[in-house]
Amino acid sequence: MSIPFIDLKAQYARVAGPVGAGLDAVLKSGAFINGPDVARIEKRLAEYVGVRHAVGCASGTDALMISLMALGVGPGDAVFCPPFTFMSTAEVAALLGATPVFVDIDTASFNMNAEALERAVRAVETDDASIHPLPAHDGKLTPKAVIPVDLFGQLADYERILPIAKAHGLAIVEDAAQAFGATMELNGKTRKAGSFGKIACTSFFPAKPLGCYGDGGMCFTDDDAMLELLLSIRVHGQGTNKYENVRLGVTGRLDTMQAAVLLAKMDIFDDEVRLRQEVVRRYGDLLGSIPGLTLPTIGTGRMSVFAQYCILAESSEHRAQLLERLTAAGVPSSIYYPVPLHLQPVFAHLGYAAGSMPGSEDASSRVFSIPMHPYLTMAVQKEIAAALAG
Ligand SMILES: *Cc1c(COP(=O)(O)O)cnc(C)c1O
Repeated sequence: MSIPFIDLKAQYARVAGPVGAGLDAVLKSGAFINGPDVARIEKRLAEYVGVRHAVGCASGTDALMISLMALGVGPGDAVFCPPFTFMSTAEVAALLGATPVFVDIDTASFNMNAEALERAVRAVETDDASIHPLPAHDGKLTPKAVIPVDLFGQLADYERILPIAKAHGLAIVEDAAQAFGATMELNGKTRKAGSFGKIACTSFFPAKPLGCYGDGGMCFTDDDAMLELLLSIRVHGQGTNKYENVRLGVTGRLDTMQAAVLLAKMDIFDDEVRLRQEVVRRYGDLLGSIPGLTLPTIGTGRMSVFAQYCILAESSEHRAQLLERLTAAGVPSSIYYPVPLHLQPVFAHLGYAAGSMPGSEDASSRVFSIPMHPYLTMAVQKEIAAALAG
């Protein structure tokens, strides 16, 4: 039997009954749009995350897009984000006519480097690219928002990012697409992914830690004014009634079927997070003694949900050898992310040179991911470790 990279079938076997019942109820009700399950999952996840409001969206990308629209992000605005992430993070800023300003990562955590953020903001404020590499732009940019990404399931460096954002008047939009369920200690309190910033966004793409069976996403906020804007933008900038449009919006709703799937999956979610920690502990034991592998590091006081298990090889040649061995042993692998966003063709007009984001470029050249999901067994993990040991 082949080894899955993420075992959605094993998970489905566990939730098939409740998922089927939930979907059946939606089918019988005919309430496919904004059915009662949508409000139910919004309430449940807002409580889980520890914020007042949640707004279901059609995808994680829509959640990010709607959030930036609610903040009024547009042409002339600088939106700070890491280049070592999924496309959506920077795409949404560019789609709205704003300018993505890339901020390098720490290779230890793969998350945004807060000192680099501080420099990047000062560079934009003074329009001085000698302080930090800046994208090509016309006229002066206004620092508007920062999108820290909780990459691979670990929360970003909010200890440092929150005060920087505050000092410079930047709105934080947390990209928690890969981190739903992750926690960190901050000022003596345990905080969950989705609780940082003016608005936080997550994705329910099937392979994410909390996935549905199609596309889905959610925005979280404690801010009543933001809630109003998110709800309006989600349906074509709706005003006080369906036939009044007060701003531009999108069709960005979470559909009822996906809400029903998520309700069923939430019943096993905490257990899945616990199982993920066991899998990671076993990987640590099995892979720790293999020379030349840098295993993921999780900061103190943090709990990652390990959307991916990402290892650094010694060099890109070493990675190629390792990937070859995995393939020969029938073990699937992946590279997140082979090309950082500042070097993607779509952003060539921003004029970033190779070498401008050394941490991201280094990570891209050496990183690779091995199977990671709650249903990995010791036996399979041993096979994977044996393949890597060569
Ligand atoms: C998956 C992902 C998104 C987008 O989510 P979709 O639901 O696929 O639109 C955004 N940001 C990051 C970091 C992601 O991993």
